[in-house]
Amino acid sequence: MVASGKQSLCMEVLRSKYKVKKDWLRTKLSKFASPTWHAIEKAKKLIEKGACFLLRDGKSINVWVDPWIEDFKPNPRIDDYLQLPIKAHHLIDHTSKAWDEEMGTFTVKFVHRVAFTQVCDGSPVNSLWKNLWKARLSERLKMLLWRIGANVIPTGENLQRRIQHIDSICNFCDTKVESNIHLFLECHFARALWTITSWGIRIDTTPLTSSKDIIKLIVNPPNAPIPTNEQWIVTLNMALIIDEIWNSRNLKLFQQEQANLLNAKHRVQARFQEISKVFASTIYPTPRSCSTSWSPPSPDHIKINVNAILNSSKTALAVVARNHHGKVLFVWGKVHQLCPPLQVEALALLWVVHLAIQNHWCFVMFEEDSKICIDALDHPIQTPRWTLNTIISNIRNLSSCFSSCNFC
Ligand SMILES: [Zn+2]
Repeated sequence: MVASGKQSLCMEVLRSKYKVKKDWLRTKLSKFASPTWHAIEKAKKLIEKGACFLLRDGKSINVWVDPWIEDFKPNPRIDDYLQLPIKAHHLIDHTSKAWDEEMGTFTVKFVHRVAFTQVCDGSPVNSLWKNLWKARLSERLKMLLWRIGANVIPTGENLQRRIQHIDSICNFCDTKVESNIHLFLECHFARALWTITSWGIRIDTTPLTSSKDIIKLIVNPPNAPIPTNEQWIVTLNMALIIDEIWNSRNLKLFQQEQANLLNAKHRVQARFQEISKVFASTIYPTPRSCSTSWSPPSPDHIKINVNAILNSSKTALAVVARNHHGKVLFVWGKVHQLCPPLQVEALALLWVVHLAIQNHWCFVMFEEDSKICIDALDHPIQTPRWTLNTIISNIRNLSSCFSSCNFC
């Protein structure tokens, strides 16, 4: 009675006195428990045999660990499912007030629904899965990563665990057992693809020992040298590499297509460009337009104004060079691939420095809207973004080619 959820003054007093909560049946004995309570705990096994929750809304009954069906305890086919906090509530069709028969089969859709519901409810869930469902990735990529992290993807090793006499050897190297770690990180094809497409992240030097470690790295990539607001780019790139490895493996296994590293690299890069445009357009605001007031440079100087404009799919760079009379000397424009605004502003500045050198101008002033870029040129050590470091350094080196050069 004390362990039940029954509400009454008497029960509240007893619960308060004995510190018994509703999950008493599945919690361990406190090390500070009194000798009397130690004796009471011995009865727990006996109570467990006969205890059975009465089903109401099902929100507090964990279907894997709580006794809620008489003389029956469900066992998941895969141990990792135990980590999914599936409640009896999830198995009920709340419109018809009957068991949801669609839930009779344990589908990926169901897992996604449960995990998503948990996130929305704000209930405590494994933060890894919570972050995965929130990641800026397509639903298909998220599901692939979840299947890898939960170790339910049909690799040779996983298939052999369930089906005897099946070949578990990796199809790429024909030597090692095809586990998640081997297929996605260690095999020669995976290592080569990570090396040429992961922007210098040495996956083979990162200590990863389990399937969940792979997903942890992808969902929470290392902080340095990437700022937090750009980590989604790394996550996306890594997820696409994983997806490409899995697709190449399937094509080789089922259609006898030889894996081609360069083609795989190009597919990862093309998909990255395509998907990042979609997400970037919702993340990066269009930079403010250039200032409307223009002041002339000092005599003999040429003032070059540069501006970058972003829309949802591409970036346009525009440059105007004028002398101290305000006369337009040159106008340039070009389209650039979509990337974060700061990076575009810095690249635009680098481009106009090149243009000025090509035109043999010695006394120049460069004017740009991005205060961060201009500050970074004055104080390179304080450069705030890892993506800017190389560009800023190149601009500074090239600026020594001019007799007089100012950035404002
Ligand atoms: Zn292999």
